[in-house]
Amino acid sequence: MQLAQRLNRVVEPQTIRMAKLSRELKAQGKNIIDLSLGEPDFRTPEHICEAATRAMNEGYTKYTPVAGFLELQEAICTKLKRDNNLSYAPNEIIVSTGAKQSLANVILCLIDAGDEVIIPTPYWVTYSALVKLAEGTVKYIRCGIESDFKLTPERLEEQINAKTKLFIFSSPCNPSGSVYSKEELAGLAEVFKRHPQVAILSDEIYEFINYKGHHESIAQFPELRDRVIVVNGMSKGFAMTGWRLGYIAAPRELAQACEKFQGQFTSGANSITQRASITALLGDLEPTRKMTKAFHERRDYVIGALANMPGVKVNMPDGAFYAFPNISSFFGKSNGDHKITNDEDLCMYLLNVANVTTVSGSAFGDGDYIRISFATSMTMLTEAMERMATALAELK
Ligand code: PLP
Repeated sequence: MQLAQRLNRVVEPQTIRMAKLSRELKAQGKNIIDLSLGEPDFRTPEHICEAATRAMNEGYTKYTPVAGFLELQEAICTKLKRDNNLSYAPNEIIVSTGAKQSLANVILCLIDAGDEVIIPTPYWVTYSALVKLAEGTVKYIRCGIESDFKLTPERLEEQINAKTKLFIFSSPCNPSGSVYSKEELAGLAEVFKRHPQVAILSDEIYEFINYKGHHESIAQFPELRDRVIVVNGMSKGFAMTGWRLGYIAAPRELAQACEKFQGQFTSGANSITQRASITALLGDLEPTRKMTKAFHERRDYVIGALANMPGVKVNMPDGAFYAFPNISSFFGKSNGDHKITNDEDLCMYLLNVANVTTVSGSAFGDGDYIRISFATSMTMLTEAMERMATALAELK
């Protein structure tokens, strides 16, 4: 069988590869602690599960409108006004099978061969994969720990040219946990105002997992209203990863394009998930707040533990549930047969010697780091940090 050339432009995400490896080792009886996961370890709140059961009993088991039920589009508009003070009409909302599909729709509807897309590093793996699939060219801007992994207006300005079509970023950021303040976003917005050909894809899926205070969206600047695409979804804030629901709020023309595209791909998101998401968005947010509180405590513990490990440099993430420490001081060190030349070696070393799964920073565009998820219990995290500290101390 002759597979399509297109496949050569797609790689399996390292996050998924590490999770798979971790499952295989567990199946062999190894006591692996998996810190590679990008999903809350909490159950979906009960009232959301009940809404799904109700939806099935009420017969919401048929095809839905491609863009999503109108009631869900309206619920999303209500949420955007309530939480973000953003005004959107229901026909500017497209509901998809996870934010991943929302991102795919937008990128494939906007990017042609040769278009340039700016992505600050570290970034979420899927952005660059989708741009490559669309035959676009990615221009990375490296943002390290010294700038809290954030892009400054000056550095953004330097990289924009006539071919720049799109800018993609997440705040709170996966993998760094960095959260842009309103002032920082305003600085970037000033640059975008000077370059009207650039659309901005703002991934806000970690909105609710914020330890700093209020979430700020770059869509709040009126001059950018007609070219910002807000991406959000149910996976992280509502512990609904398996339900698969994401959405965009976008200018009507792009929303229509995504709807047309999605009509050929999936015919729309799962009907039962859509009904449950209405309840999630309009209902009690207390379970979300409780989860965030638990993540906050774990963050404080994990960052404290990592900061105490000699050779590890770590910042304080203000959102999401990841630590992204700089581990480059271990390059060139070894422990017996284990030689560390790069971040991938270090991840494999931690997996084989400490039995802890992490993800290499190069999967997120910066090989001086590794990503550690703290979306697991305190007991597991304590054990994992102890094992990591011992294994790293043995590298000479
Ligand atoms: N955006 C970011 C930054 C993510 O980390 C993830 C999931 O890990 C997604 C989007 C995709 O989320 P969904 O489960 O809605 O497809």
